[in-house]
Amino acid sequence: MASDNSDTSTDPQMGDTLHRRGLMFILSSPSGAGKTTIARMLLDHDDEIAMSVSATTRPMRPGEVDGHDYHFVDQPTFDRMVEDGLFYEWAHVFGYSYGTPKAQIRAGLKAGHDFLFDIDWQGTQQLYQRAETDVVRVFILPPSLGELNRRLTGRGTDSAEVIAARMARAQAEISHWDGYDYVVINDDVNECFAKVSQILAAERMRRARQTGIVDFVRELTRG
Ligand code: 5GP
Repeated sequence: MASDNSDTSTDPQMGDTLHRRGLMFILSSPSGAGKTTIARMLLDHDDEIAMSVSATTRPMRPGEVDGHDYHFVDQPTFDRMVEDGLFYEWAHVFGYSYGTPKAQIRAGLKAGHDFLFDIDWQGTQQLYQRAETDVVRVFILPPSLGELNRRLTGRGTDSAEVIAARMARAQAEISHWDGYDYVVINDDVNECFAKVSQILAAERMRRARQTGIVDFVRELTRG
């Protein structure tokens, strides 16, 4: 279901700025291209964007907090949420179920909050189908396969087989680059972060998202 961008019933003023509708900012990349680093930098530098919190049936790991890292639910609860249509998208990953709950995001978007998604191309497609006008899709590419291999090897934790499997999967993921609105090459992490920040800033300024602009212009042009 496409979301409604035309709501202007909320207070047009939000602090000193006009009210705007939030957006769903998707970052995808093959493993090793730097997506997690860019996501962390965005969250650290920008108070208006927060990570979307998924629901999962996976057991909680030490240090994780329910409601912060995930909403931890049992399988019957998850299945009921699927049946009730409470997810934008959901998937089975490594034997557990994961899904993006609609309610918190819908309310947040209306209040002008942005959500960051660290998801693959399949999740991106599903989100886009259900919330097209709220979604901004950014794909991060490594500068070369050689550099990607170097980054994956540089972690020093994985065997040659694991790295070869990751490289094969990375190439498969790269093939979906054309399903994104923006593609950024991560040659230098600070430059890449600057570009991703510029994309976010520009997308926030889209007329359709500036729900407070209607009243502002009405006031501006009065008499
Ligand atoms: P982990 O259990 O290590 O936190 O996550 C395992 C995998 O599940 C990761 O690849 C992560 O991207 C994926 N995942 C986490 N939340 C969601 C979600 O809401 N939807 C989908 N499709 N995948 C998710």
